[in-house]
Amino acid sequence: MPVSFSLPYRIRHSKRAKHLRLVARPEGIELVVPPAISEDRALAFLHQHRDWAERKLSEMRSMTARSQPLQRLENGSTLPFQGREVPLLVREHAGRRPQVQYDGRFLVSVPAGSSGNLQRLALSALFDWAKAWIREQAEAIVQRHANRFRLYPRQIRVKRMSSRWGSCGPRNDINLNWLLAFAPPSVLEYVVIHELCHIRHRNHSADFWQLVAQHLPGYSAERQWLRRNGAALLRRFE
Ligand SMILES: [Zn+2]
Repeated sequence: MPVSFSLPYRIRHSKRAKHLRLVARPEGIELVVPPAISEDRALAFLHQHRDWAERKLSEMRSMTARSQPLQRLENGSTLPFQGREVPLLVREHAGRRPQVQYDGRFLVSVPAGSSGNLQRLALSALFDWAKAWIREQAEAIVQRHANRFRLYPRQIRVKRMSSRWGSCGPRNDINLNWLLAFAPPSVLEYVVIHELCHIRHRNHSADFWQLVAQHLPGYSAERQWLRRNGAALLRRFE
């Protein structure tokens, strides 16, 4: 079957692989091919999943290309919301409180005359907005996954955390880092599932990882994303 691709890929033959698998890497898609599968079939598989592959690739690239910290929240800059750069508009308004609206771009309004405090006000308004947004997303993720193994958190809190993405307390309170709003959606899902699985296993044992995999078989791509981009994201709003 003739197949043409605009997306970069490479084929890796693996004796240990049991299934055809796609792995998104910043340089392109890696097609992992087990011994019994022909390259033609592998390419057809990639073709079948090209929407997924293109999306993953652009998510990964939009972050790795901009791994330097963002010093200022200013009009005309961008924010990596859900891993994609979206425009940021900052303006003064007549209201007394800072406000954030999102409609495909971020509009941050700060009280008129507060330009000296603009960074602090814009950041704290953005934090409040992202906090509510992540809570809603995380609750939907929990609803999708909790019933399966009866893993129910007591509550979900979103915080500023300087070195972790999430945690699960002894009473099953899940804490999430607000910066997860600026990672791809699959990374947020992975972190929520990771903490959810700590309700059952309070460690990172093989049993724990197996439980994570039962919820999210491809989770290693998300772990890898955090390993590569996490440090830069943690510094982004410093
Ligand atoms: Zn953990």
